[in-house]
Amino acid sequence: MPAPLLHIETSQPLPAQADAVVIGAGIVGVFSAYYLARRGLKVVLLEKGRIGAEQSSRNWGWCRQQNRDARELPISTKSLALWDEFAAESGEDTGFRRCGLVYLSNDDAELAGWAKWGEFAKSVGVTTHMLSAAQASARAAATGQSWKGGVFSPTDGTANPERAAPVVARAIIKLGGSVHQMCAARGLETEGGKVSGVVTESGTIRTPLVVLSGGAWASSFCRQLGIRFPQASIRSSILEVRIGKGSLPDALHTKQVSVTRRGEDHLRLAISGKARVDPTAQQLLFAQYFLPMFAKRWRSLAPGGLQGLLSGHESLSRWALDQATPMERNRILDPKLDRAQIELTLSRARALLPELQTAPVAAAWAGYIDSTPDGVPVIADVPSLPGFVLAAGFSGHGFGIGPGAGHLVADIVTGGAPIVDPRPYRLERLNDAAWGKVAEF
Ligand SMILES: Cc1cc2nc3c(=O)[nH]c(=O)nc-3n(C[C@H](O)[C@H](O)[C@H](O)COP(=O)(O)OP(=O)(O)OC[C@H]3O[C@@H](n4cnc5c(N)ncnc54)[C@H](O)[C@@H]3O)c2cc1C
Repeated sequence: MPAPLLHIETSQPLPAQADAVVIGAGIVGVFSAYYLARRGLKVVLLEKGRIGAEQSSRNWGWCRQQNRDARELPISTKSLALWDEFAAESGEDTGFRRCGLVYLSNDDAELAGWAKWGEFAKSVGVTTHMLSAAQASARAAATGQSWKGGVFSPTDGTANPERAAPVVARAIIKLGGSVHQMCAARGLETEGGKVSGVVTESGTIRTPLVVLSGGAWASSFCRQLGIRFPQASIRSSILEVRIGKGSLPDALHTKQVSVTRRGEDHLRLAISGKARVDPTAQQLLFAQYFLPMFAKRWRSLAPGGLQGLLSGHESLSRWALDQATPMERNRILDPKLDRAQIELTLSRARALLPELQTAPVAAAWAGYIDSTPDGVPVIADVPSLPGFVLAAGFSGHGFGIGPGAGHLVADIVTGGAPIVDPRPYRLERLNDAAWGKVAEF
């Protein structure tokens, strides 16, 4: 079942030429195309299905610095500022609000981990407040429980996944960019070893610059180009309930369940980290890369079914550019939800927030979360193919850092000063034979 999603009208017909083509209109692709258009480039954005219909509408909407890996914290901080700026400069409303995020716990080890992260955050100028038992219980009045402690990150916030990617796409069109839905990119053309065009299902666009922001489909597309991108997806299920006016929190995390307000009258409910692994041939191919991450997270993962194989996003096959590809056979990756996980999430949420006892379920869905082996995305040009930039593998954090990722893509493409140090996001780090021994998790 798809998640709620704003539908927008996009462009016709497909241009024959562009300064840059962005493939994939999730949050990363739309912000990449937006910042390229703002720099005056003639940009074309291609989406095989609907803008934002895969991961970028199916998530919680958290835009956070709290508990970020050190390699991602700078881009998280910049992204929060860019969410604000985008609204001011485009006049579009992504629903982004700095509502602050609340984390609650009764577990001493978890609280100690948050305090340690808080010390690190302070050293890089990020504000976060540890909460005493009294403060945590006061912030969590809606739970009706007392808590040992917690943390509050006042400068973090949430955006609305139903609106964010579509309204950024609308802003691209206002800037003169060309945005196309139901238009899959099948592959690239090269001349003299450099990118010279994009072959789509509706014709070829001549261009020297291509950004691949294809989410869970990125590795299989890269394979057609001889580029090795270790990537794997897990399936997470989530639901939304309808709420009335009340004192429910905007964004609250506990180990049992997390809740996020969406708009005035909906609350998204989910269990952090809990997901199913639907085996695919690509996962076998990259198994050695993902074993350390799996060893750390296996308790929250459960075996899935055959739908990963059937969906085609992790296909190992080579496809011809003059025939329909797996991307056209599956316009929107819409995996089956895990009913047991949905029921568990709902019962935990009702136990946490008594006000939800009578709140009706409005929708439930699943989404594949694409990940790299070290949980940090690739946002980089690829030296073996001049003109090609890869931005994928956002590992469950890509919605919040979408603006920063898009800005960095535009910096790389135009040779501008990078908004953050780009080195943590190089592809080469994952293809270093020794990486598994040195990677942090
Ligand atoms: C349940 C869940 C909860 C999450 N919670 C959060 C959260 O709270 N905060 C957070 O920051 N992140 C969260 N995430 C992760 C976040 O949603 C993703 O990291 C982010 O949306 C990835 O964006 P993307 O643009 O890379 O990919 P996507 O949104 O998946 O977009 C990729 C797009 O590329 C298109 N595409 C692929 N190949 C082609 C092609 N060849 N031609 C044309 N189009 C193509 C696809 O159709 C798709 O629309 C969550 C994810 C899930 C599933």
